[in-house]
Amino acid sequence: MRLSQYPINTTKETPAEAEVLSHQLMLRAGLIRRIAAGIYSWLPFGLRVLRKVENIVREEMNRAGALEILMPAIQPAELWQESHRWAEYGPELLRLLDRHERQFVFGPTHEEVVTDIARRELRSYRQLPVNFYQIQTKFRDEVRPRFGVMRAREFIMKDAYSFHLHEASLREGYAAMREAYTRMFTRMQLDFRVVQADTGAIGGSASEEFQVLADSGEDAIAISDSDAFAANVELAAAAPPAGARAQPRQSLEQVATPGMKTIAAVSAFLETPPERCLKTLLVEASDGVAVALVLRGDHELNALKAQKLPGVASPLRMAGAASIRAATGGEAGYLGPLGLKCRIYADHAALHASDFVCGANAPDLHLRGVNWGRDLPEPTAADLRNVVDGDASPSGQGRLQIVRGIEVGHIFQLGSKYSTAMNAAVLDESGKAVTMLMGCYGIGVTRIVAASIEQNHDERGIIWPTPLAPFHVVLIPLNLQKSAEVRAAADALYAALGAAGIEVLYDDRDARPGVKFADAELLGIPHRLVLGERGLAAGSCEYRHRRATENEDIPLASVAAFIRARLEG
Ligand code: ATP
Ligand code: MG
Repeated sequence: MRLSQYPINTTKETPAEAEVLSHQLMLRAGLIRRIAAGIYSWLPFGLRVLRKVENIVREEMNRAGALEILMPAIQPAELWQESHRWAEYGPELLRLLDRHERQFVFGPTHEEVVTDIARRELRSYRQLPVNFYQIQTKFRDEVRPRFGVMRAREFIMKDAYSFHLHEASLREGYAAMREAYTRMFTRMQLDFRVVQADTGAIGGSASEEFQVLADSGEDAIAISDSDAFAANVELAAAAPPAGARAQPRQSLEQVATPGMKTIAAVSAFLETPPERCLKTLLVEASDGVAVALVLRGDHELNALKAQKLPGVASPLRMAGAASIRAATGGEAGYLGPLGLKCRIYADHAALHASDFVCGANAPDLHLRGVNWGRDLPEPTAADLRNVVDGDASPSGQGRLQIVRGIEVGHIFQLGSKYSTAMNAAVLDESGKAVTMLMGCYGIGVTRIVAASIEQNHDERGIIWPTPLAPFHVVLIPLNLQKSAEVRAAADALYAALGAAGIEVLYDDRDARPGVKFADAELLGIPHRLVLGERGLAAGSCEYRHRRATENEDIPLASVAAFIRARLEG
């Protein structure tokens, strides 16, 4: 492509609305433009990168034997009513009315549509297993669209759905997708981890996320320093502390703590470390009064773990005034586990504390020198907290480290949720109708572009790994407008590289070299060739990789071979 014919400008200024680097660089380099909150246009350079991502995804899906289809973005409400998600999905689902006042949704995902296809097309076990996939636009009305295309409302997903006669086949199909995803993300040169994930409301038996490691990631992941264990912090089990609880040494006393609402304030005032200041959270119960959850002051509640406990309402909700009154017998004061008239769960680590501080269930009062068993009954032990740096790994090997990740893919053994609800069955070998089992496998195609930039940039701009680069090479001639020799040689080189199958961005603009170099670096083209009068006289041009600091002189006659070797290497 000749840059002189390209109408989109780059900018030096960091756009104010962009919080993360990838978003800033995508705007500055002119890859995307925002049209409304969470809704973007892809401009030529951005689209070229997006297509590279799509092609890798498509090649690996095809290699794994999946069949590409294209389902409609607009789906009739009836299908969503059949699966019950019309009521369950919530405000992320964009609902539409047509001119006949019929209800539709703009698909946030396609389980319903694909299950409808499967129940019509698949009749016999002989047609199984099968995996249908598509690469398509989704809409989710996210509460907080942000970080550009990373958490958008409209975005492109690769979604695949597999259908199976039995569990063993589902597990095989799942393993094939796990391998295909590993190949794709490796080809894209992303630094990623396969992470155990929650199977959510759907249940399902296994689920893993592919997380690209980046400080700007929205997910916290726990990884072991000694083996391959990796789990989303939502899910990672916190092991109970080793050894027995220390014996009580202090006696119970009540202390005035006026206005001290935080653990930090109480801890400082009572000169007790936060790990011995316990916090009590009252949440709504699934039956009757509230449930109390007790944690160490320095630990964080894990909602997902808590809402799975018997008696706790799911999704987790903080107790309302009526429930608090029922549990404490009074108004909301400084909560503590003594004298509560409700079920109490204590996190393993909180249960390990002795001589602890806690709220006294009365305004401005705390208790100290409190001991389980002596001052109040032993509560039920549970895993209630998020793991933290240094916790023992649930794999039994080493310590956990908490890192941030961007979820670029998700694979999931769904089981029969949709096939049961929508009655998708085939006849087995004995002629009996069997409900099919399903797996589903998503990839955030547009999100990958941002994730790659998060991992590949410097202060001057993007640094594309060759497989995702919008162009392999940027060709920068010096003094093109004045020197007929340079123009002739640059035009010839541009043609020769193109003929060798190399994608070249030819900067034939009438601009200063400094401007051209800066744009090439911002755009992140991995290989750069500079052709000037001096080099031309010596029959060579200057090569530099985007990550390198030194130039190399390459004889003009062998430039194409040299670049090809770099692309393949
Ligand atoms: P998240 O936890 O990030 O909201 P999700 O669990 O809702 O993700 P899935 O329903 O599994 O995501 O969707 C499959 C893939 O689509 C995700 O792994 C992610 O890469 C991508 N994705 C999901 N939501 C968005 C979004 N709002 N913008 C861009 N990509 C998204
Ligand atoms: Mg989501």
